[in-house]
Amino acid sequence: MTSLVRDLINTVHGEGDTSHSVDPPMQNVLDQLAQLHGQAIENLDVAQARVQPSPTDAVAALLRAQGKNPSPEALIPRVKSEDRSIPGGNGALWIRIYTPEGKGPFPLVVYFHGGGWVIADKNTYDAGARGLCDAASAIVVSVDYRRAPEHKFPTAWNDAIAAYDWVVANAAALNGDPRRVALAGESAGGNLAVATAIAARNRGSHQAVGVLAIYPVAQTGNTETQSYDDSANAKPLNKAMIGWFLDKLVTSPADKADTRLDLINADLVGLPPVTIINAEIDPLRSDGEMLETALKEAGVDVTRKVYTGVTHEFFGMGAVVPKAREAVEFAANQLRRDFGGPKSSSAQAGAQPRAPVAPEEPIAPRLAAIGYAAKHSFSDLKPFKFERQAALADEIEIDVLFCGVCHSDIHQIKNEWDNTIYPCVPGHEVVGRVRRAGAAVTRHAVGDLVGVGCMIDSCRQCEPCLAGDENYCEGPNSWLATYNGPMIPASKAPGGKNTYARDNTFGGYSNVLVVQEDFALKIPANLRPEVAAPILCAGVTTYSPMKHWGVKQGDRVGIIGFGGLGDMAAKIALAMGAEVTLFTTTKEKLEEAGRLGATGVLESDSSALESLQGKFDFLLSTIPQKHDINPYIPLLKRDKTLCIVGALEPMEGVNNQAVAFHRRNVAGSLIGSLQETQEVLDFCARHDIGPDIELINVDQINEAVKRAIDGDVRFRSVINMASIGSVDAGATVEDAAIFVSA
Ligand code: NDP
Repeated sequence: MTSLVRDLINTVHGEGDTSHSVDPPMQNVLDQLAQLHGQAIENLDVAQARVQPSPTDAVAALLRAQGKNPSPEALIPRVKSEDRSIPGGNGALWIRIYTPEGKGPFPLVVYFHGGGWVIADKNTYDAGARGLCDAASAIVVSVDYRRAPEHKFPTAWNDAIAAYDWVVANAAALNGDPRRVALAGESAGGNLAVATAIAARNRGSHQAVGVLAIYPVAQTGNTETQSYDDSANAKPLNKAMIGWFLDKLVTSPADKADTRLDLINADLVGLPPVTIINAEIDPLRSDGEMLETALKEAGVDVTRKVYTGVTHEFFGMGAVVPKAREAVEFAANQLRRDFGGPKSSSAQAGAQPRAPVAPEEPIAPRLAAIGYAAKHSFSDLKPFKFERQAALADEIEIDVLFCGVCHSDIHQIKNEWDNTIYPCVPGHEVVGRVRRAGAAVTRHAVGDLVGVGCMIDSCRQCEPCLAGDENYCEGPNSWLATYNGPMIPASKAPGGKNTYARDNTFGGYSNVLVVQEDFALKIPANLRPEVAAPILCAGVTTYSPMKHWGVKQGDRVGIIGFGGLGDMAAKIALAMGAEVTLFTTTKEKLEEAGRLGATGVLESDSSALESLQGKFDFLLSTIPQKHDINPYIPLLKRDKTLCIVGALEPMEGVNNQAVAFHRRNVAGSLIGSLQETQEVLDFCARHDIGPDIELINVDQINEAVKRAIDGDVRFRSVINMASIGSVDAGATVEDAAIFVSA
């Protein structure tokens, strides 16, 4: 043993500690690092510290000495990497995206480097991230969060969350699977990985499937732990360095007690499985142990492995330290488990570097789907093949039987609300039969007849959601629409986030739909499925405001616009015991109003309107575009309400004299809650009412759209989705591109 080696071992062990012996390959790195003549970081300023020789430099020097090319690309040629900037919490962040060999979509790992939040970056920690990408067959996104002291605590934590959200939202575009995202990090980055999982748990959405914390900083309150003691003077990390990092990081001592830093005192309940990797010769070894205990006590599935004979930073040294390869392989297997996939057989055989593997099949199978889509605002709907993510544990897969053609579909196809995402597969009046239920589904069983309206998810955290008003969800992206993605897309959401990780969703003009079980309603036995379909939107959109404003027996209700919504509104109001007047622009509909038991009035008949002044308890406008409601306001009694559901856009100005002088109300309303949707289905079944429908085959959809615009449909077109089977077999599918959807 050379004197240098003996000195280093003594340094590593700390005074009086001789229990840890360093593995020879690890010792080679430490020897090499010593020869690069770095200085004790605690005696340097930040600028000097950032250009100190690092263990990564020592590994590169060793490889060069062995005549090998130390470049990361040469060491792991199977992995491709690309640097780019993304929007962070406050300005751009640089990331490096590592992509493995294979076809994808791949699971993803959001990876945070170490360096005490002060030094180092994605380059310094390239080897660990690249090795994980290769071994786990996962896309790894390594994040250059902002560092202290320029950016004090908690900037790095906020950047970590922003980067995680970005990866989730953009997973599909990276050829990744947004449902299989894990968090990982080394040292300070190990802390960020756990803290980001806690933040995701707090927000209640898009939790990572697993966390890999490699020698994490898990607490800052106790520097008298076993490992702070026995590795106080270890290399390349010692106790004094950690104090130096924390001084640069925090603004006040109180920051150290913040549970983002002090993880062991954080609420850890409900976190995904956590894997902790520790090095034996490391002041942070006991932090890992304490974190393991805290996680266990919180009921979290935790696995911890301590690698003997190696030091902090060993994880990225696979090129020269076999234990590092072993640790990367172990970590990759833990991640594979978290992703739901098989273990690598090489790891089961023990500690061999993994050979390139064939791209694995996605764990959650995808469903081949066919629908009708618009590719542009000016195009007809055409057959469209795509893929859906198969049902997760709390979701169901539905064979779509019938889908109503709502005028909202038409607005969306033609981009009349200026928010359409193409290709657009419309349809949110869906009735179908459950073909498969996820393991955790309790509300529905295979074979059940269910309905899906406009929503397939909501944030479930905000006040309206907790009050059962999911249709007014105030989460960052509001509710997730059955098609066209979240109501508030990432571009308009706070911090540019998309908590649903789905930019687009494809609706019910298709053969199969996947939906979270709570967002599927029961279809009562005595409602014909094709009749039930329009109730899921047209029914609830008119029922909800009538219920809200208390329409009751004997009230006088006016419905303006006698189309799909108007037809449902009139029937529901009549069933509530109201006297109903239908205002229409179409002369022929006067008679049809009479057949329903309502009175028909032409909207252009000013003398009829004059005679109806002050007569109505409630008015509902279903006209599908900007219109003048001033002729109708005087028709209300004092204190009564005119609610607009048709035009979801800026309207003509209101004459406030007509409103104020009789304390009348002009209001709006948006679809209805899940509870109201079930209520209106049951209400219609009980009263034996439903929409008048025209059943069409899916290849008649463009004609049906045109006829709806012309006001020619009586009163709702409903697609018999069984007809799409023949399209699949025979018709030319113009756009065979594969898209991933809800
Ligand atoms: P339809 O096309 O089935 O019916 C609309 C009816 O409005 C027409 O039949 C016609 O009836 C009348 N109308 C059309 N154009 C005019 C006009 N320029 N002036 C006066 N009346 C007109 O549409 P839907 O019933 O399916 O949908 C109506 C609106 O409701 C759409 O804009 C839709 O987007 C919106 N909607 C809103 C929801 C919400 O949550 N607020 C939910 C669902 C839909 P007539 O012949 O009697 O004049």
